[in-house]
This record gives sequence, structure tokens and C-alpha cells, in this order.
Amino acid sequence: MNILSICLVAFGLIFLSVSLKPAIKIYKQERSVGWKSLLLLIIFFFFGYCAFLYYLAHIPNVSIIEICLSSILFGGSIFVFMVINFSLRSIEELHRIAQQERHNALHDSLTGLPNRLHFTETVSAKVIAAAPFSVFVLDLNDFKQINDVVGHYYGDQLLIKLSKRLSRVLPEDCFFSRVGGDEFVLLFDAIEHVEIDALMAIIDKALIKPFNINSYNFNVRISTGVSLFPYHSSTIAPLLQKADTAMYESKKQQVPYRLYSHILDHDAKARLAISSKLHLALAENQFQLYYQPLIKLQKTKVHHFEALLRWPQADGSFIPPDKFIPLAEQNGTIRQVTLWVLDNITQHLAHFAEQDIDACVHINLSARDLQDDGFSTRLAGLVREGLLSPAQLVLEVTETAIMADVAKTRDILSLLSRQGFKISLDDFGTGFSSLSILRELPINQIKIDRSFVMAMHNGNTNNAIVRSIVFLAQNLGCSVVAEGVESKAIAAELALLRCDYLQGYYYCKPLPLALVFPYCEQQGWKVALQ
Ligand code: C2E
Ligand code: CA
Ligand code: CA
Repeated sequence: MNILSICLVAFGLIFLSVSLKPAIKIYKQERSVGWKSLLLLIIFFFFGYCAFLYYLAHIPNVSIIEICLSSILFGGSIFVFMVINFSLRSIEELHRIAQQERHNALHDSLTGLPNRLHFTETVSAKVIAAAPFSVFVLDLNDFKQINDVVGHYYGDQLLIKLSKRLSRVLPEDCFFSRVGGDEFVLLFDAIEHVEIDALMAIIDKALIKPFNINSYNFNVRISTGVSLFPYHSSTIAPLLQKADTAMYESKKQQVPYRLYSHILDHDAKARLAISSKLHLALAENQFQLYYQPLIKLQKTKVHHFEALLRWPQADGSFIPPDKFIPLAEQNGTIRQVTLWVLDNITQHLAHFAEQDIDACVHINLSARDLQDDGFSTRLAGLVREGLLSPAQLVLEVTETAIMADVAKTRDILSLLSRQGFKISLDDFGTGFSSLSILRELPINQIKIDRSFVMAMHNGNTNNAIVRSIVFLAQNLGCSVVAEGVESKAIAAELALLRCDYLQGYYYCKPLPLALVFPYCEQQGWKVALQ
């Protein structure tokens, strides 16, 4: 019986000993009074077990009570062992879940990159540390078009692949995060131009190879704006806003990156001022329409005129449409602007008819005009009231405007085409240039962008592009317009290519309504269809 009691207490002692290690681990993790007391109790029991073992080893015979006590001590030690180990396992699991939660809270679920919250925490720590650093705001060009044309699956895959590729090549001292849809922010522990240039060269190099997703190849271009801490600001919000301003400038100028300068701020303020004046300009009828003829080749007749918007200022200057149209597109006033243009063209056409002038006017449409029914409804109303006939108006749309919402644009253009309106694809060659547009949309005319026409010289790439577009248009049964014809030599070259219409300063600049027909007359051009 002595041996049995001794064995029970000895095993109990072993269980207590092996419970000590996890108990210490728990205490170290939790550092609470409860776990400290439990640890001390185990140590206390350990010595108690030792003393009882010593006692059992030195008595001749154990009583029944001592055997019962030995069994209770053995059971108690197993209980302690199990409780401590289960507790350790539960605590470790809780810690793992908490860690995972924290990771999820700080990382983007799609790309696994640090998210906006993580970025804010990191940049705040850097601001407190006060060592100089630079903030890069990176934005993908034409990402919306990728999403719209091939679908969100491809957009997501592209973001994942791009994040992986950039994370692989960026230096260790870069903090790279995704803060929104296709917007990434990078923190870099350097502010010297050479270092910023070197980092941009790394990013550019990483993007040279297209991203392959399910046999589609995507060439990704990024616009980047950079601001410097503490030189541009010593607080986070203005730093980001300045990097953002620089990013928009880089996008506008189509350069890989722009470093913030206060001149950009000045530009941004000027844009804001123009944007806020647009409503007033509409309400006060400040706009004017100018007309530029499209010359039908080898004939001395003109029939088509492009209506171009002008915004005269009190000091006699003009705000160019390239400046205010994008702002009107941004703040939504473009819809009213287009309706204003349409109403004025209608009045002018009536005025032409009174003078027995048979002309057809080209109107420029923006993406927003094709995203709802406002424009097409007004157009249908004018036709219904007999104020306008579809043969009097050509609708100029750009590839970029179409790409903003291909499905909706297709519906609206198809409807307008069925009503008899002709559609002209403007600035051809500069947009996303998907040839499927030509196949799927009712395009009647292609206008070769002036950047190709102005720079076409014998044998150069622009010349080859113009030739190819003319060939393409002729084969698709579309008429073709070359805009930006500035010299006799280029006009002659386009005549050889049998381009249908020529438009440019060589023939005539855009003129106000009162001057355009006298000018045509003076040039000996008859304004008539045939
Ligand atoms: P766009 O539709 O490509 O219009 C042709 C532009 O080329 C006009 O500039 C015209 O003045 C210019 N141009 C014509 N011939 C030549 C040439 O030989 N050389 C050069 N360098 N330029 C030439 P503008 O009037 O400044 O208009 C710029 C852009 O603003 C237009 O480009 C069009 O996208 C937009 N825009 C103008 N009016 C309207 C409008 O009523 N609505 C909309 N949505 N956009 C308009
Ligand atoms: Ca145009
Ligand atoms: Ca154009």
C-alpha cells in the first residue's frame, strides 16, 4: 500500500511540475493578479506534495485515510494540469484571433497591402518622429475604363498583380499602401530629387511589362504626385492634398510624376474659380458659339461647320474651352452647357435658313451627355417641334466619352442614329482606341485627331497613322475628316489620300457667326450641300 500511495503522490508531483511551465507562460502573457496567485499556489502545492511524499516514504504503514489523500492529490494535480493547458490553448487562440483581426483592420482585403487606417497610423508616427520623408500619391490611368470594358474581375486581378509586382521591387524603406479603389500612397524616407527620381524609375521599370490576365494584356500607366514633409506641410491632411494636386497635374500633363509646388496650388485655385463661375456664365448667357468650316475636298463648297464654344471675359480675353469644358464635366454643368449649345445652334440654323443658307452643324458632346436621356430627349423635342432636322446636325463624340459608359452610350447613340442623326468619332487615335467601338456603334464619320495631322510629314509615323486611319475609315464606309490642317503641303498630302473633309487654320479659323459666311463668300466657297 505504501508503494501505491508513493506512486500516486509522485505522479501528482510530475503533473504539477509540467503544469508550471504553461502557468509561467500564461502569467507572462497576461500579467494579472489572478494568474500570479495561481502560479504561487502551484508552487506552494509542489512543496506540499514533496513534504507529503517524504512523510509517506518514512512511515512503516499507510492508513486508509492517507491512501485516500494520496488519490485526491493525484486527481487534483491532473485537474491543475488540464485546466492550465486548456487555458493556455484558449488564450493563445484568442491572441491569434486578435492578431488576425488587427491585421484585417489594417490591411486591404483585396491586395493584402496596408490600408488607409494603417497608412494614417504610419504617417502620424512619422510626423511625430519628425524626420523628413516624401508622400507619393499614385493613381492608375484609365482604370475605370478597364473595369467598364472588361469587367470588375479583371480590374480586381489587375490591382492584385500590380500590388504584388510593386511590393516586390520597392525598397525596404518604402511604406506602400492602398487607400482607395485605384489609389495607392507610398511613404518614402527620402526627399532628395535624385532619390525620388530613382524610386520613380523603379516604378516605371516595373510597369514596362504588361499585366497578363486570362490571355488579356494590360499596359498600366500610373500618374504620381509627390509632396515633401516637412517642406510642403508638417501636417498630414495638407501633405496628402498637395500630393493629390501634383498627381492630377501629372495626369493632365501625361508625365509619370509631378513634385508639388505652390504654382500647382495657384492653378488649382484658378480652376476652382472658373468652375464656380460656370453657373453664372450660363445664367447670364456669357458664352458664344464660333463656327469652323469643314472643307469638302476638290470642291469649292462647304456644308459642314463645327460649333465651338467660346467664353469671352470682361477684359476682352477668352477662357479656352480646353480649360473650362473639363471643369464643367467635373462639376456636372456640362449637361446645361450642351443644352445651351444645342438651343443656340437651333436658333442659328433658323437664321441660316432665313438667308437661304443650307448648312449642317457639328456639335461636340461630352461623356455626361451620353449617360442619361437629357440631351436625346431635348433633341427629340426640337425635331418634333420642327425646329431641327436630323440632317442639320452631326454629333461629335470622342472615344473617351464613349468609354465612360459603353453600354449606355451604345443605347443612346443607336437611338439617335435610328432617328437619322449622323455620329462622328472625334479625336480618333488619342483615346482608348478600341476598334470594337467602330464595329459596335453606329459611327458614320471618323475625325483624325489634329495631333497626327499637324505633325504628318513624308514617311514619319504620324503620316503612317493618318494613312491607316483613312484606309480604315474608307473600308468601313465612314467618311473621314482631318482636323488641324495648317499648311498647304499637308492639305495636298491629304488630298492625295482622298480624305473627305479638311478642317484647320490653313483654310479658316473658328469665326463668330457674323463673320463665317462673309469669309466663305470671300474665299469663293459656296455654302450648299451639293
Ligand atoms: P475639338 O472637338 O477637337 O475641336 C477642334 C479644336 O481644334 C478647336 O479648338 C479648334 O479651334 C482647333 N483647331 C481647328 N483647326 C486647327 C488647326 O489647324 N490647328 C490647331 N492648332 N487647332 C485647330 P477649340 O475651339 O479651342 O476647342 C478645343 C476643344 O474644346 C474641342 O476640341 C472640344 O473638345 C472642346 N469643345 C469646344 N466646344 C465645345 C462644346 O460646345 N462642347 C463640348 N463638349 N466640348 C467643346
Ligand atoms: Ca470636335
Ligand atoms: Ca477633335
